[in-house]
Amino acid sequence: MVRYIEELQLAGKRVFIRVDFNVPLDDAQQVTDDTRIREALPTIRAVLKAGGKPLLASHLGRPKGVDPKLSLMPIAKRLSELLGKEHEVLMADDCIGEGVGKQAKDLKPGQVLLLENLRFHKQEEANDEAFARQLASNADVFCNDAFGTAHRAHASTAGMVPFMKEKCAGMLIRKELEQLGKVIKGAEKPFVVVLGGSKVSDKIKVIENLLPKCQTMLIGGAMAYTFLKAMDLEVGKSRVEADKLALATKLLETSKRLGVEIVLPVDHVCGTSPDDKSQAIDVNERAIPKDLMGLDIGGKTRAMYTQYIRDARTVLWNGPMGLFEVPKFAEGTRVVAIAMANNTSAQTVVGGGDSAAAVNDFGLSAKMTHVSTGGGASLEFLEGKELPGLKALE
Ligand code: ADP
Ligand code: MG
Repeated sequence: MVRYIEELQLAGKRVFIRVDFNVPLDDAQQVTDDTRIREALPTIRAVLKAGGKPLLASHLGRPKGVDPKLSLMPIAKRLSELLGKEHEVLMADDCIGEGVGKQAKDLKPGQVLLLENLRFHKQEEANDEAFARQLASNADVFCNDAFGTAHRAHASTAGMVPFMKEKCAGMLIRKELEQLGKVIKGAEKPFVVVLGGSKVSDKIKVIENLLPKCQTMLIGGAMAYTFLKAMDLEVGKSRVEADKLALATKLLETSKRLGVEIVLPVDHVCGTSPDDKSQAIDVNERAIPKDLMGLDIGGKTRAMYTQYIRDARTVLWNGPMGLFEVPKFAEGTRVVAIAMANNTSAQTVVGGGDSAAAVNDFGLSAKMTHVSTGGGASLEFLEGKELPGLKALE
């Protein structure tokens, strides 16, 4: 059992909160998207309200040693704006050491201490025990609220936990576990899974784990062509994983045996190559001409998928329907997002980094029941894997 932050007595205690502040910065080191900072606010506010002293820790980017360009300083500034005048955000110059320990002890009610980038120390990712002990030594309570790194066993997500007196999950992790958990255990029927993205190989375990749980699986993206090819259809120059054809055939057989429908595109939007500058070409049948490449689902497929999504009670979506980064191949992805947003009586959940980015771009995030903040972590959760960051909290 995992305990949650609101179940603990926090008054006067130093609470180490592992957050995910791995946000994008521009060349002037300004935060360009503060979603992840805002997602951490409920837990930070809960700790402050309970009289605790929050020590916030995160990684940012992939520094090799100390790198001023990847300092969390700009994040301290943004966090301070978001928390408002009644809370002061102090910035530490490291994440371990005596200086940090003293700053943590001296925190006054209402103040927040942001530790410097955990990955300035290579021991973080190496899950080094001595480093983990040092992180643990400056706090009384451990709270993990970084769902996006829960699939990694690093010092700040797993290693330090045994050295803490008390441990718990924050409110963002709680939301992720409740929403994703509801989908994989006890989704309301009809449960429709929409899967896309670039590779079948990335999603095999997700397909295998979800096939027995859903009624319908709508497939799009490049992975659709490996399935179509496995059915002996011509797919032209579309991306196909030759070594996954047998697996695709097996998955199609399994779905028949389970009575689950795997639905594949019946038409396509094509180009001669991914960076073809000319107009997109509509191919109004399943087979794709030899000189073309499927880069999005076609109009009939979009209408068909919309209908399935409209009639569902639960919709889980992972993986774009096409090369959505290019506007002329984004329509399939957009239509799926709109159909989900329009089905207000269903639980609608989006997982996966690119899918979440697409939904954000379309301005539809707020219309979904849940958009997971964990790219890789949400995939591993949907595969049914145990995440080390969550296991450490049990
Ligand atoms: P997520 O991050 O949501 O799990 P993936 O990483 O699996 O999604 O896949 C996203 C990538 O798949 C995007 O970059 C998208 O352009 C690419 N993609 C989708 N469909 C196609 C296609 N038909 N051809 C080439 N790339 C595609
Ligand atoms: Mg991705």
